This record gives sequence, structure tokens and C-alpha cells, in this order.
Amino acid sequence: MTSRPAAPRRPGLPAPGQPAFVALGSNVGDRRAHLEAALVALGATPGVRVAAVSAAYQNPPVGGPPQDDYWNAVAELVTTLSPEALAARLHAVEAAAGRVRTVPAAPRTLDLDLLSCGDEVCRTPALELPHPRATCRAFVLAPWADVAPDAVVPGTGATVLAHATRLRGREPAAFAALRRVALLRVAAPRGARPAVLPDAEALAAWRARVEGTVGLVPTMGALHEGHASLARRARAACDAVLATIFVNPLQFGPTEDLARYPRTFDADLDLLADVGADAVYAPTVDDLYPAGFSTHVDVDGPTAGFEGAARPGHFRGVATVVAKLFARTRPDRAFFGRKDAQQVAVVRRMHADLDLPGAVVVAPTVRDADGLALSSRNRYLTPDERARALAIPRALDAARARAAAGERRRDALVAAARAVLDGAADVATAYVEVVDPARFVPLAELGAAPALLVVAAKVGTTRLLDNEWLLAPGDDA
Ligand code: AMP
Repeated sequence: MTSRPAAPRRPGLPAPGQPAFVALGSNVGDRRAHLEAALVALGATPGVRVAAVSAAYQNPPVGGPPQDDYWNAVAELVTTLSPEALAARLHAVEAAAGRVRTVPAAPRTLDLDLLSCGDEVCRTPALELPHPRATCRAFVLAPWADVAPDAVVPGTGATVLAHATRLRGREPAAFAALRRVALLRVAAPRGARPAVLPDAEALAAWRARVEGTVGLVPTMGALHEGHASLARRARAACDAVLATIFVNPLQFGPTEDLARYPRTFDADLDLLADVGADAVYAPTVDDLYPAGFSTHVDVDGPTAGFEGAARPGHFRGVATVVAKLFARTRPDRAFFGRKDAQQVAVVRRMHADLDLPGAVVVAPTVRDADGLALSSRNRYLTPDERARALAIPRALDAARARAAAGERRRDALVAAARAVLDGAADVATAYVEVVDPARFVPLAELGAAPALLVVAAKVGTTRLLDNEWLLAPGDDA
């Protein structure tokens, strides 16, 4: 496989398009294949990029003749098409999948509903936006909240998370009936491998050749679908995508897993080729921290508790490397995962305080089909430990259900999560807390803005982190 040449594209930084959300459903034949084929067809549409897709949820059909369960998902697109042109394209993809419109609520190979397109609000016989039933269906709102919890549903003034929470409060059974069944592949023909930039000089030469916007995806390698989701969002939003792979010694404590941290560089390049990354900066320790290196970035505030307390020096190492990566790569957008929520708070604080370039973009956590948040460290888990680790997403979900039912008190929400964790064998909980996502301090109760429930727990010898949004119904996010 050849390396791609310098990235490159249009000067003048044209807007890549506006976000649009599409609900996908299928309940005939190979449901996964139908949904994945639809994603391929959408991604191959001129003027459309697939930025993200939720997991597939299995869901009993509503009304109509007896039929199989549905698989439902929501995709986030970035598009330069008009809403009408996008809707027409969705009909064409449905038709190509063999969908014949017969009686209402009949089984269907493929159903594609345009939920929203930019800020458009319209009610014409041909097109209604946002989709008139988008905010009253659990099988739409649950996957939609997975990919874009903070997107505002046009014309409603409320976020997807707020709508999902409200509906979950009113129809808990509809949410309980949904079952996550699979991660969907957003397959694109594998492109050339990204150019490998081994040092600052190669990086500077590549950066100087880029004419459009640069999306930066910092990683420590051992890439998985969580990292791929960041790169895919960068691909949809920017002209050039630059990943970095660097196992940063500064952020590991003396007794931590630096030496055995998984290194899978070759497979990482294949994954980056699949998502269309242009280049990967993979420096040595000496390249980033040459002899005599003596400057570190200490962020106060959000580093005080939780991981900051458990891992002294960790966030100092994170902030230092991220500041250097911003300086060396000068990104227009830098993508981080909500999975590491405290890291997000630290990076955002530092980015604002030091006037670093570009924008910080935070992407939702990608979970395996069974709910476990993807993490490079999951490969340390034995099959038995992995099964026990599922107590963590279950604990988060128990608290979310309580919040949706109207519970606002921190103590009750934490107790709901703790009860699940305490009931799991060999899961040693380090902390469970309700925090403000920016300041990372505990909250006594849920307010008007979404809070984060954060969990750290050791399963076997592996320390796992996870978190979820908590919101009480009636609040606007
Ligand atoms: P790491 O390689 O673990 O340092 O992670 C690199 C980036 O990927 C960070 O911004 C992480 O928050 C993000 N990330 C890790 N796991 C996930 C996940 N399951 N979903 C989304 N982003 C993730």
C-alpha cells in the first residue's frame, strides 16, 4: 500500500456543510446488512459525509401486521445538499433497497427518515422538518442521544438529550424495550494508508502543504472504534485529518502500565486508512521532549479531584503533551472523546486559558454492543472480567433511569448506581459522583444543565472509567 501524498484541498476554507440527522430502520431479512448498505450509499452521495452512526437498537414493531423486530439507528451527516435534495436522496436509497410502500406500518427492508437538516423548520406536503414524530419515539431518541446529545432539535429550543430524558420519564417501558444489538460499520473503501510523519520536521513540512482546515485527533494508539469515531467526525468537518499516536510517558505514574501499554501501530494505520485520515504524526519521546526539556503545563481547577487525585501528575502530563500538539499541528478543530470526561474539562480549560488555536470538539463515547465503553485498556480484561465490567454501564443506566423519573438528589442518583456496582462480584469502585462537566466538582443535585455521572472502578487489575449524562425531565439542555 502506498502512503498518501500531502493532504491538500481547497483554499479559502469553505464550510463543509450543515449537520443533518437520519433515522434508519429495517425489519426484513438481514437487518444489519440493510442498515450498513444504507450508510455506504449515503456516504457515497456527493455533498454528503457520514460523521457518526449510533449502535443498532432492536425494537418491537409498533402496530401493523405481525412482523419481525426492527433494528433502528441514527446517523449524523454533514451535507451541502438542500433538505429537499437530501430527502429525495433518502427515498432513492430506500427504493434501491427494494422498499415498496404498501400499507402503513408494513414490514420494510429499509426506512430512512430525515429527522433534521441544519436549523430548517418547514411543514409542506412534501417535507416536514424536524420530522413530526422525531421527539415522541424512543427508538429514535435513544440512538439520536447517543450520537448528538447536545444538538438542539430545530424549532423546539431543547436538545436531543432533553427530549430523550423527557420521553424516558413518560414512557420508561418503551426505553426498557430497546436492546442495543450491534455496532454498525461505516464502511468506506479502504484508502491509502496515511502518511507517517515520524518527527517535528516531517510534521512541519506536511502542515505547510495543507491548504484547507486541519482536524487533529490525538491518541495513544491501540486504536478502536472510539478513536475511529473521532477521525470520522474530523473527516466530515475538515479538509485534512491528522491523527497522532504517542504513548506519552509524562502522563503515566511510576507504577502504571507505560511499558505494557498496547502498541499496535500496523493495525492502527489500517484503521486510519479506513476512515480516510491523511497523516499520522508518530513521534519518538526524544522528538517531543528533547534533552533539557523542562516546561510543563499545570492546570488547576478541574484537575483537583477524581483522576487528578488518584493519579498525581497525570493531568500535568496530559496538558503538557496536548499543548505541544496544538503548537506543532495548529489544528482548526481538535477532537477528544467524552469517554475521558475529566480530560475534556482539563483540555477545554487549558485551551481557553492559553489562547490555543482552533476549536475543541468533544465526541460522545462509543460503546460496544453490550454497553461497555470502548477503551484500549479493555484488552487487559479476561472474558470473565469483561462480563463483570458490564456492571459499570448498567450502573450508569440505573442512575439515568432515576433521573428521567424525576430524581434530582445526588445521593439518590449515586446510590442507584452504587447498588448495581456493589452487586457485581470483584468490581472495586473507586468513585461514583455527579459532577459539573466543566469544573469537575460534585453537585448536590441536578440543575437546569446536564450533569455527568462519573465512575471509576477496578475490575481485576484494570482500572476502567466511564460516565453518562444525567438530566432531570423538564430541563432544557
Ligand atoms: P487514548 O488513545 O486512550 O488516549 O484516547 C484518544 C482519544 O480517544 C481521547 O480523546 C479519548 O477520549 C478518545 N476515546 C477513547 N475511547 C473512546 C470511546 N470509547 N469513545 C469515544 N472516544 C474515545
